[in-house]
Amino acid sequence: MRRPRTVRAILATAVATLSIGIPAAPTLGSPAVGQAAVGVPAGVATGMAESQLRWVGCPQDAGAIGVAPWLADRVERLVSDALADGVPLCGGGWRSYQEQVDLRFQNCGVSTKAVYEWPARWCSPPTARPGQSMHEQGLAIDFRPLRGVSRPDMYRWLRAHAREYGLYQLPSENWHYSTTGG
Ligand SMILES: [Zn+2]
Repeated sequence: MRRPRTVRAILATAVATLSIGIPAAPTLGSPAVGQAAVGVPAGVATGMAESQLRWVGCPQDAGAIGVAPWLADRVERLVSDALADGVPLCGGGWRSYQEQVDLRFQNCGVSTKAVYEWPARWCSPPTARPGQSMHEQGLAIDFRPLRGVSRPDMYRWLRAHAREYGLYQLPSENWHYSTTGG
């Protein structure tokens, strides 16, 4: 069952006041989030190492999108073709396992169970479990428009063109594209 919003909001506030930013990975018999240890539970895919990524620069010096090397040329073409169509955009690609944990902490709740075990759909917005996000593989991008372009215009462009580059939208999120649509 989904935890009521109000409780989650209270918890979110509580989290904001904690001095720690990184919850401990769960281990058997370890009840608490918020301990100092950082680790990856045994058997969890940890995604792609940051050192393996390729970074695709965005127009207007707006940053860069980190993706798996084999995907980079496609993303580069997407970004430049979108720009040529008057839709400058950038996005957030790769995310570390720890960043995914932090995001779950924000979006799902502060308990170990919420962070590591709740299904994605119980979080707001829905957020994949640590180790299961396409972002951690460098295969997903959350696009954002750059100056002067509205989100609806960017979404329209992506819906029409992203598949030409092998990127597919997650139906529940207009901004999230990945190589599988997941
Ligand atoms: Zn995403």
